[in-house]
Amino acid sequence: MVKKRIAVGRLFHESHGYALPTPAENITVVRGDKLIEGAKGNGTTLGGIVDALLERHDVELLAISDSMIAPSGLIEHGFYLEQRRFWEDQVKRLEPDALIIDLHGSMGTTALEDAEGDFLAHIRTIVGESVVIGVGLDLHANITPAMLTAADICIACKQNPHDDYYDTGTRVVELVFEVLAGRLHPVYTLAKARMLTPGKLETHLGPLKEMHARARTLEQSTSAIVDISLYNAYRFADFTDMGQAAVLLSDGRYSQAEGIVLEFAQEFWDRREEFKDDLLTVDEALNAVAERPDRLPRVLADLGDRTLAGAPGDSTLILQAALSHARPLKGAMTVHDSETVAQAHSAGIGARLGMRLGGKMTPLYEPFEVEGVVRVINHDDVKLFGPNFARESAGMGDTALVEIDNRFQVIVTSKPGFIVDPNIFESHGVRVSDQDFVVMKSQFHFNRNFEGLATSLYLATPGLAYYVPGAFEKNRARVWPDTDVSDDPIIAPQVLHR
Ligand SMILES: [Zn+2]
Repeated sequence: MVKKRIAVGRLFHESHGYALPTPAENITVVRGDKLIEGAKGNGTTLGGIVDALLERHDVELLAISDSMIAPSGLIEHGFYLEQRRFWEDQVKRLEPDALIIDLHGSMGTTALEDAEGDFLAHIRTIVGESVVIGVGLDLHANITPAMLTAADICIACKQNPHDDYYDTGTRVVELVFEVLAGRLHPVYTLAKARMLTPGKLETHLGPLKEMHARARTLEQSTSAIVDISLYNAYRFADFTDMGQAAVLLSDGRYSQAEGIVLEFAQEFWDRREEFKDDLLTVDEALNAVAERPDRLPRVLADLGDRTLAGAPGDSTLILQAALSHARPLKGAMTVHDSETVAQAHSAGIGARLGMRLGGKMTPLYEPFEVEGVVRVINHDDVKLFGPNFARESAGMGDTALVEIDNRFQVIVTSKPGFIVDPNIFESHGVRVSDQDFVVMKSQFHFNRNFEGLATSLYLATPGLAYYVPGAFEKNRARVWPDTDVSDDPIIAPQVLHR
């Protein structure tokens, strides 16, 4: 049997257009066998890709490069070009039959707004027309014609929280083999509504639940429809071709595709008011914690400072409010502040520290002058329990646990990290069940990881990651509610193929 040579990798980043750029030294690059070992069984798209390929006997698996980067500011362009060059060299050397790649879809560099579009177009020019390229994206991608014309397979996950990354990976592998076998001739039809969704982004609630259900029914009902991906554009980017997108993947041209994607785009627009949020202030949330009828801890989702949406994670606003709250609450949280980590590491366990904690990266915050006692210093990587991001690295870098006022357990991190999981705390000896509240830097992804341990409250906190119309000035994008687009709300369907 002649084995298919399949190259795999990941370059995954959601780039915040309003935060400080992400320096190359904050980015981990994994290559070779370590990539495969790390991806096996892990709950990400790359995990699904690698597992599906390992199950097949007709595959020779080739590892290229893996960077799973926590959301943060735009990627340094030089770093991006180095990665692209590496992929180029490896693809030339390995001569694969197909490339299967896990990308986010809203990566930007300090010089490029559509990094994935550039990346895929570049790889296409290197490999030529006969090599199959498959891509699994996040549904918060800013999907572009450049991506859809460069790749053969390019589909999004369907759920937020992203419980189905893994399934997306296995599906991409399945479709790539259909293309390799000559059984699938991918054509994409794309339409967009010129709008952002201010909130209500969970796919198991509200308009998105209904729209995804309709998409799944359409996929089942017609064999010509292979996939319908609905994209909720990443809001903290300033992207020329920005909007809520529907992309239909058909086997060959499908006459009704334009009508279908247009209907989804129109539905986004018609239901735009239903995407507005109703959230708690910090004080309302702390009152709810103090008055909760059960003893279960509450997870406070610090929406303004979500590292999962590209904010630095350096807020101390909830800590400050909790310290001055009328009730003596106990809580645990993270603060991204590498200076304080270094200070704690040199002071040592048991030392009393005067800190200027956090507030050094987000322009809206100030460092918080406070004292604490160093309880833990840590150099080890923390793996997340999951199920969301199961076994992924938390990406916090060196950390220190500093206790404040004998009741707040503050894990100070040197990197923003994936702050979505109980093991952020448990790994430092802090039991979630002993707290009144813990703070997560994510809007959705932590929920399943805290099932049975804590219930969630959502806070409209100030910061780079809470979308307030008008607060993030759009120079390129023309989108509601920042701009009045009511005379021209829909970007007409485009049919795209290689
Ligand atoms: Zn996402």
